[in-house]
Amino acid sequence: MLAIVRSATLSGVRGHPVDVEVHVGSGLPGFTIVGLPDASCREARDRVRAALQSSGEDWPQRKITVNLAPSDLRKTGASLDLAVAVGILAALGRIELDVLDQYGFLGELGLDGSVRSVRGALPMSDVVGAPAIVVSADDATEVGLLGRPVRSVCTLGRLLTCLDGTQEWPEPAPQPTATSTSNPTDLRDIRGQHMAKLALGISAAGAHHMLMVGPPGAGKTMLAKRLPGLLPALQDHEALDVTRIHSAAGELRPEQIPVMSAPFRAPHHSASPVSLVGGGAASMRPGELSLAHRGVLFLDELGEFSPSALDGLRQPLEEREVRVSRAHSTARYPADVLLVASMNPCPCGESGAPGACRCSDTARARYHRRVSGPLLDRFDLRIGVQRPSPAELFGDAAGESSSEVAERVAGARSRALARSGRPNAALDAVELDRVAPLSSGARTILENAVGQGRLSARGVGRVRAVSRTIADLDDGDDVVSIEQLCLAMSLRVDPFGFVG
Ligand SMILES: [Zn+2]
Repeated sequence: MLAIVRSATLSGVRGHPVDVEVHVGSGLPGFTIVGLPDASCREARDRVRAALQSSGEDWPQRKITVNLAPSDLRKTGASLDLAVAVGILAALGRIELDVLDQYGFLGELGLDGSVRSVRGALPMSDVVGAPAIVVSADDATEVGLLGRPVRSVCTLGRLLTCLDGTQEWPEPAPQPTATSTSNPTDLRDIRGQHMAKLALGISAAGAHHMLMVGPPGAGKTMLAKRLPGLLPALQDHEALDVTRIHSAAGELRPEQIPVMSAPFRAPHHSASPVSLVGGGAASMRPGELSLAHRGVLFLDELGEFSPSALDGLRQPLEEREVRVSRAHSTARYPADVLLVASMNPCPCGESGAPGACRCSDTARARYHRRVSGPLLDRFDLRIGVQRPSPAELFGDAAGESSSEVAERVAGARSRALARSGRPNAALDAVELDRVAPLSSGARTILENAVGQGRLSARGVGRVRAVSRTIADLDDGDDVVSIEQLCLAMSLRVDPFGFVG
């Protein structure tokens, strides 16, 4: 007898529908699974057999063939276990076949018959072609975000009694309210750092990548952590996208469903290129770049990252998505991030203070070379950050709070979107001529800077984009003024010149 059960598999951050066809027939007893299963998917045989026996079901002494359709799509992980078990029981007549028209199934089976959570339950549920979907109790909350009927069970035994009507389905878990979690880190907690705080607001408003150079203890990490709190709130569809990615990476914690605030990711400098960008030989997973989608990717100690890892970032930063090519397919992961990086001015970190640096000139030059020119070019904002002075540390002048700055940022960002349909950092030269005309004084200053070799052609474009953002923050003046241009230029300095 043949049974067809609807389910799905995960590739990158996307689900793909899979029909699990189970045939139980005469022949030598055995179990064959075909249709490009990977190793863990093939092991479903042993898990399903043990789970059925633990649930009090007989394992048939017959020939069982499982086909995972479409057969040219690679199936990964254990998410098809539950569908395989249901298919076997349906093919044996233990479950009514018409039940299979009503439900799709997603879940891993434990040997004791428990139904377990799977990575990527949300994106996979998106594509299961059945009116309702059955998942583990742990996955019910995230799958419930889709607004389609969800049933959840803890064990295979309970599933059988629910399907044949002897027991009611367990009550669904209450859906979390979609409120943005309050931001525990506030800009107001940081003393001094006037320029750095100003740059954070500009970075958030125009989506400008930012590099901070300064000695250890200057507060670079503290500053970077405040950036997500300044970004515009995620729209509902953006929040769902971000939640999907975190689900696919297995990084979704129950208390953050759905992800409503901009993510903040700070990978260690020993991170491999694959963990930063995504991919991987065994299972294609999104990397830190995608986990930071619609939020902030913070690279502390930029110079300590491996050159190959940093090289891998360049193209995705430009295209705002990651493309990972494999023999038979190309996966695309969203990667629209705001990149913030920090560096010490030299290997010992002390070259800001006269006489304190112990580094040789060669060591310093080697350290600076670690960050390539093309990567440095990606940072529209490059600022020096010094340790706060005692007067600033012990003074009581608290600056603006995160929410005050965030309000101005939201206004500036919506002005930019209404004008060009994208944030200012993404504007090209032609568009800048249209939307960021310079006052005559500002033009002269820019021409002089180019004439004296202080600014490259690319630099001109970036400075103009930043000055457009500054004007947007100043209530959206049409023409960029001298002050706005000069501020933009002062926020794009040679990252090592002023401290070396
Ligand atoms: Zn030094």
